Amino acid sequence: MKTTLKTNITVKDICEGFVYNELEGKGLFGLSGKLTIQPEYQRNYIYASDGGKREIAVIESILKDYPIGLIYFNKVSENKLEVLDGQQRITSVGRFVADKFAIKDENGMEQYFGGMAKDKKVKILETKLLIYECEGTESQIKEWFKTINIAGVPLKPQELLNAVYSGPFVTLGKEEFSNSQNANIQKWSAYVSGSANRQDFLERALDWVSKGNIGDYMSSHRFDKNITELKKYFSSVIDWISSVFIDVESEMRGLEWGRLYEAYHKKSYNPKKVSEEVQKLYGDPYIKNRKGIFEFILGGSTDTKLLEVRVFDEATKKSSYKEQTTKAEKKKESNCPLCAIGHDANKDKIWNLSDMDADHVAAWSKGGKTTSKNCQMLCKTHNRAKGNR
Ligand SMILES: [Zn+2]
Repeated sequence: MKTTLKTNITVKDICEGFVYNELEGKGLFGLSGKLTIQPEYQRNYIYASDGGKREIAVIESILKDYPIGLIYFNKVSENKLEVLDGQQRITSVGRFVADKFAIKDENGMEQYFGGMAKDKKVKILETKLLIYECEGTESQIKEWFKTINIAGVPLKPQELLNAVYSGPFVTLGKEEFSNSQNANIQKWSAYVSGSANRQDFLERALDWVSKGNIGDYMSSHRFDKNITELKKYFSSVIDWISSVFIDVESEMRGLEWGRLYEAYHKKSYNPKKVSEEVQKLYGDPYIKNRKGIFEFILGGSTDTKLLEVRVFDEATKKSSYKEQTTKAEKKKESNCPLCAIGHDANKDKIWNLSDMDADHVAAWSKGGKTTSKNCQMLCKTHNRAKGNR
């Protein structure tokens, strides 16, 4: 790969013909049309999020003569450059000069570029950027791109995959799943966590359809001119969730719905009954893991491990142990009630507290509470055996 350091390109040059696409949240072109700011493998513009702190910092750095770091262009041909690294910084500068956001002046007043004193405007426009122009094959450039991070915001795995497998399939996938203007995003957000901009929805859609083999799937579909299968599978999962669970609970966000869909979508459920059960479990103070409620119900409401039902605290265990042991010693039988009714050598064994576990006398699943009245200590073997029934 050949690289040339350019030190004469100014903010003014870059902003010549700057185009920002509000709809897609992307800086598109600069340098009088010579520069593509957001090639396929670049991520969407994210500096405007977090209340714009990052884009403001870029402008303040320029005004204070702080360096804003190296920028890399890929030289595609004599008159065609693409931003490899620095897209966020360039878009910040372009957006500021286009009056898309304001900074605060010395008095804390909002200040847009258009309203700045002339000397400050000139200072910004004449700032020279440090730019490396790189020439190389597509794979060299991509390989290298994989190894860099952009201005303190590391690329997410899906952003890297988009770079590595760029092509018509990724373009279409991003149009559908990475476009924050897509009206479906809100519905999807009930079940999928993350943001469209950072490729979280595309990643989830690919994860589900590929059963976790995103890289393989992207590689084999790289030159597809449609994303029909991807879209279809994703909506099947979403539609299935919303038909089984009529209420949307915040704990549904980010669950492994792809796996659950594969395991349970052929089973039939009565949504009304499911809803009643969800509400009942949501009202149960002994359930620690509400996220487990959905899989618990899908699986037939048997696997209580998913719910992490609250366990007895140490004080309760100690007092139950003491009470049981005193009684057992008087009767000369084991302090584990199940050992005591048995016929082996443990019949009269007094276990140490550390050899015993707390058990719900009335099982939690049958309405038993996690209170001292419902607590009994069993030897570990018996407790394990009881837990498995
Ligand atoms: Zn026992």
